[in-house]
Amino acid sequence: MVTQTPELPFTGLTLSGVAARYANGTEALRDLDLTVMPGERLVVVGPSGAGKSTLLRLMAGLMAPTSGTIRWGNATAPRPGSIGVVFQDPTLLPWRSALGNVALPLRVRGVPQRAAREAAYEGLRAMGIADFAHAVPAELSGGMRMRVALARALITGPDLLLFDEPFAALDEITRFRLNDDLLALAATARVSLVFVTHSIFESAYLASRVLVLSPRPGRIVDGLEFPPQDPAGPSFRTAEAFRLRTAAISTALTRAMGEGP
Ligand code: ADP
Repeated sequence: MVTQTPELPFTGLTLSGVAARYANGTEALRDLDLTVMPGERLVVVGPSGAGKSTLLRLMAGLMAPTSGTIRWGNATAPRPGSIGVVFQDPTLLPWRSALGNVALPLRVRGVPQRAAREAAYEGLRAMGIADFAHAVPAELSGGMRMRVALARALITGPDLLLFDEPFAALDEITRFRLNDDLLALAATARVSLVFVTHSIFESAYLASRVLVLSPRPGRIVDGLEFPPQDPAGPSFRTAEAFRLRTAAISTALTRAMGEGP
């Protein structure tokens, strides 16, 4: 008889006393204590080189901390398929269709071709690009390629999505749309987000919490919490509450720049 382990609900990702140092001696992060809560939209801002990408690598389980511990729920490693990662470069396979790219994580896990492609088609439909399922990446716009990358990150039903400046290379309108779609998706897929961006506007729009990192070695020097139900829609971009958010994040970031090692 095959005993199936019931999938436990995501109870959070916790970093305790985490430091990260690269083999060449570069100290990227120091003394990090942080919990990503279920359903949270955590945005990380900080100067270049503060260790934001390193933090995402640690959270994805792609790199071990030099000291301290990381727990995915009660586990010492993430469950396969429980974390999706989206980079600025969508990293799609150029010879595979959008459908083939999105189906890939399922195929790698041994899901039969037909079931994987059906799930991939559903994922593309949810991202509004089902009509382009058979196009290869070169035939798609930058925004569409990013939607394919998002559908691929979601296909395994992750608890947590990690974003490393995903929309930085896109035009402003496309970026706005993707921000809105991402918020809708986070609500319906019940997935937690950790999002790295250099855009104060983007951080203010997406975050239920913002963490501000100091210059390298990155330490958490500020945290701002916002009502998770906001934004209720795109009109939030012109609301006074949004202006106040951007001002608060901007001030915190400027203060953080002055925090030397
Ligand atoms: P950020 O994403 O905030 O710009 P990173 O996490 O990319 O910062 O990098 C933090 C620091 O670690 C930087 O000084 C960077 O040069 C260094 N670094 C990043 N990756 C490596 C690596 N593979 N080997 C050595 N140093 C690295």
